[in-house]
Amino acid sequence: MSGDASDDRDEFALIARLFAPLARSYPGALGLGDDAALMDVPAGQQVVLTMDSMVGGVHFFADDPADLIARKLVRVNLSDLAAKGAKPFAIMLSAAFPQDVGTDWLRRFADGLAQDCHDYGVALIGGDTVSTPGPLTLTLTAFGLVGQGRALLRSGGRDGDKVFVTGTLGDGALGLLSRQGRLPRLDPDLRDQLTRRYLLPEPRTTLGPKLVGLAHAAMDVSDGLVQDVGHLCRQSGLGAVIIAADLPLSPAAQQALADDPSLLSKVLGGGDDYEIVFAAPPEHADKIIRLADDVGVAVTAIGHLRSGTDVVVQDGQGRPLDLARTGWRHFTDTRG
Ligand code: ADP
Ligand code: MG
Repeated sequence: MSGDASDDRDEFALIARLFAPLARSYPGALGLGDDAALMDVPAGQQVVLTMDSMVGGVHFFADDPADLIARKLVRVNLSDLAAKGAKPFAIMLSAAFPQDVGTDWLRRFADGLAQDCHDYGVALIGGDTVSTPGPLTLTLTAFGLVGQGRALLRSGGRDGDKVFVTGTLGDGALGLLSRQGRLPRLDPDLRDQLTRRYLLPEPRTTLGPKLVGLAHAAMDVSDGLVQDVGHLCRQSGLGAVIIAADLPLSPAAQQALADDPSLLSKVLGGGDDYEIVFAAPPEHADKIIRLADDVGVAVTAIGHLRSGTDVVVQDGQGRPLDLARTGWRHFTDTRG
């Protein structure tokens, strides 16, 4: 522990007790008892690294359950690894806890961390813990492995590739609205489902590595589909057509859109999906759908890459959708 003078040894011991068990499965973590961790890279593999931060009041509500805050932090990072085709194996946590954080809260936070470390097969191999007069601020670094030179990049898309997306779109952004009480007419069950998706995304860690060798390009959808497909297109030097009618929606999102069609802007531009959007040649489509089926993840074709620079969203008749008329506002419907 580093930080101000109010950090006492009890709190330090508590953190060591809560976090050290999560390091046990990784010998190089040295039981979180040394200055640093040691990492071996298996021959023929590359380490894929990613880091994401979450700030209380910005990326989550201060009163969100502590275990879910920890699990979301893990999951948003694992989603980035999955999008590179990497299999996660370790995480490091930098935590700035408000000075008045209680031991109960810390215990629940560590429980959430432990659960996802276990479920996703990752070890907590190190980090830093400080105390802050500001909001809870968490930064996680995640490490994954992929075959040398085999990682899925944003830049690999080719003209004529089909564009696919995993899972369903818009649930995270609609879940945020739901969490804010802004979907009052929606069935309470469906509201809860959306809120749950916002609080606890499901990174596609099993499917991502299976896309290696099949997909040409991939990325994590976290800042809104249209913006993120735009990033993939830019890196690949291409444009894309996305068919709005083909976007996969959960039953809850379908219901929300039936009630208020302007919420399509949340599906196209809302954040917090944590799905993978990827480009693959049409001849691999059947195999990809079969593999996805095997691991229980839906994969839907939503368009294709073509020469050009723009991402055009079309309606079912092939007409470009007027995004402004769907309630799309570039700077408020996209983030990051
Ligand atoms: P230092 O004084 O060198 O910064 P610390 O006391 O911060 O050392 O950390 C001691 C050990 O505990 C290190 O192995 C560090 O990686 C680990 N550690 C500290 N905070 C965390 C945390 N939030 N999560 C995981 N490991 C941590
Ligand atoms: Mg330290």
